Amino acid sequence: MDETADIVVVGGGMVGLACAIALKDRGLDVVLCDPGEARARTSYGNAGVVSRGSILPMSSPALWGKLPAYLRNADRGLRLHYSHLPRILPYTAHFLASARASRWRRAAAALLPLTSAAYPAHERLAARAGTSERLQRTGWLKAYRSEAAFKAAALEREILSGHGVAFDILDTAGIRDLEPALVRPYARAMLLTETGSVREPGRLVEACEALFAGLGGKRLRGSVERLAPEAEGWRVVTEAGAVRAKQVVLAAGAASGAIARTLGYRFAVAAERGYHRHYALHPDSPPLTRPVLDTGAGSILSPMGDHRIRVLSGVELNARHAEPDHTQIEAASREAAETLRLGGPLDNEPWLGSRPSTPDGMPVIGPAPRHKGLLFAFGHGHIGLSTGPITGEIVADLATGRKPAVPVAPFAPERLLGWPRLL
Ligand SMILES: Cc1cc2nc3c(=O)[nH]c(=O)nc-3n(C[C@H](O)[C@H](O)[C@H](O)COP(=O)(O)OP(=O)(O)OC[C@H]3O[C@@H](n4cnc5c(N)ncnc54)[C@H](O)[C@@H]3O)c2cc1C
Repeated sequence: MDETADIVVVGGGMVGLACAIALKDRGLDVVLCDPGEARARTSYGNAGVVSRGSILPMSSPALWGKLPAYLRNADRGLRLHYSHLPRILPYTAHFLASARASRWRRAAAALLPLTSAAYPAHERLAARAGTSERLQRTGWLKAYRSEAAFKAAALEREILSGHGVAFDILDTAGIRDLEPALVRPYARAMLLTETGSVREPGRLVEACEALFAGLGGKRLRGSVERLAPEAEGWRVVTEAGAVRAKQVVLAAGAASGAIARTLGYRFAVAAERGYHRHYALHPDSPPLTRPVLDTGAGSILSPMGDHRIRVLSGVELNARHAEPDHTQIEAASREAAETLRLGGPLDNEPWLGSRPSTPDGMPVIGPAPRHKGLLFAFGHGHIGLSTGPITGEIVADLATGRKPAVPVAPFAPERLLGWPRLL
């Protein structure tokens, strides 16, 4: 016998769990389908930054100047696997079409209400999950190795200021005073002060799982193989059984595009793979107190404990299940060893995960255009840990016929079905 529910959430990362919890709060009978492998979630392995200022997508106008280096794989922030590119042509076309100042500004304006609501939504969720201590108002630091690199990011600062996003600019001495653990003499840094960070995001996700279970939420530990529309709703088929429900939320992170495709939706999305590895900070070093983006290395250093540093790599465009390529994380680790006083690696192998990415840097949140009772909630790219909890609240509103507090029109699925419009 199939299980029954009001609504099924497919995917139990930060986004899916937040949806499941918010839907449970609205009194719905919810089943969450997920294979249940903690490290398989991208929500486990990220940098933990929750930033109001994360409104500037990767498809920036600066792309054109960097293109020659990108194409030669000479920029550590991006690694292209050419054999994979034909498979993500629509994504690439949308990405290039988005890399204009006008589009960048438009995306920033659309993302601001989402990122502004992200930290309060995290605070509410973390408090209920009994894990408030993991979320700290640390701000985060974007560090530049040269004056020229800092100047090149002027448009970014102009857009952030225009939207009232607070930040301080620090010089070399100011950076050293703020973070004495950084031994590399950065020329400048931008301290985004309104933001926070989560230590060990995977633990936060586990606490949310426990919260969902405590609310009476049901789990089906299995990978969804098929979403079958029926006369009165949906049959969600996993290898561990099936569930029938009126509504379905597709929130399976980077797997969402492939699942949507089985229903005929060809989204211009891609998996932006990324790696992390943990290192011990030397016991005599002062602790690093906030995440640091080393713009010169295209990598992030994020403290997961006082003397435990997570080094995270940039973007690798490759098939989600292709063999790991450690080129970027090895380079990031070498750079990190010149930025902090690090000991040896704490893990045997680097962790690999996939950012569920859209080419315009905005998530896909909204009803499926051709199927009743199907809601999409994926494509959160570089900001899915931060914007997961608020996405859950938005999805619960949409599923229960309320108007979400955050405008969702810019996140409509339709924009990424097919090829890009050029204007
Ligand atoms: C290196 C790196 C650094 C990052 N840093 C940050 C950061 O500082 N701040 C930030 O906000 N974001 C960051 N991100 C991005 C963030 O981690 C993601 O956007 C976010 O985790 C996406 O959450 P999700 O729930 O959509 O996906 P996931 O966490 O990947 O969860 C998807 C879930 O769906 C499940 N699933 C897959 N297929 C199926 C199926 N067929 N049936 C059922 N379930 C399925 C998976 O098992 C998984 O549990 C970073 C990402 C990387 C890689």
